[in-house]
Amino acid sequence: MERTLSIIKPDGVSRNLIGDIVSRFEKAGLRVAAMKKIQLTEKTAGDFYGVHRERPFFKDLVSFMISGPVVVMALEGDNAIAKNRELMGATNPKEAAPGSIRADFAESIDANTVHGSDGPDTAAEEIAFFFRPDEIL
Ligand code: GDP
Repeated sequence: MERTLSIIKPDGVSRNLIGDIVSRFEKAGLRVAAMKKIQLTEKTAGDFYGVHRERPFFKDLVSFMISGPVVVMALEGDNAIAKNRELMGATNPKEAAPGSIRADFAESIDANTVHGSDGPDTAAEEIAFFFRPDEIL
C-alpha cells in the first residue's frame, strides 16, 4: 500500500474534468484518501514547486498554477506512485501515451492538467504540504 499526491491543475478544474479524472484513478484501483479544492497563492505554488525555482519555466509554472482553483488529492493503493504517473502520461502532452490523462486533455506543457508525485520521498512531503494527518482517511 502506497500513497501519492495528485493535483488537478487549473485547466482541468476550469474545464469540468474533475469527475472524469477521479474516475480514471478509481477505475485503476486507486482510492481517494483525502481531497480538497483550493486556490493556490504565489507563495504556496512557489514553495510547492520550489525545486524548480531556478528553472526558466518557473515563473510561467507558478502563474499558471494560481490562475484558478486546483483539486489536491492523496491517492492510495498498490504501487500508487507509479500507477498515477502511468495514468497521467508524460509531462509534455505531445509525448504522452495514447489514452493517458495528458494525451486526452492537456493543452500544453504548462497546462498539462495533472500533477503526480515522482517518488516515495516527494509523495510523503507533498501530501504533508497539503493535508494534516487527520485529513487523510
Ligand atoms: P511532472 O512531474 O511531469 O509534472 O514534471 P516536473 O515535476 O518535471 O515539472 C513540473 C511542471 O513544470 C510540469 O508538469 C510542467 O507543467 C512544468 N514544466 C516542466 N518542464 C517544463 C519545460 O521544459 N517547459 C515548461 N514550459 N514547463 C515545464
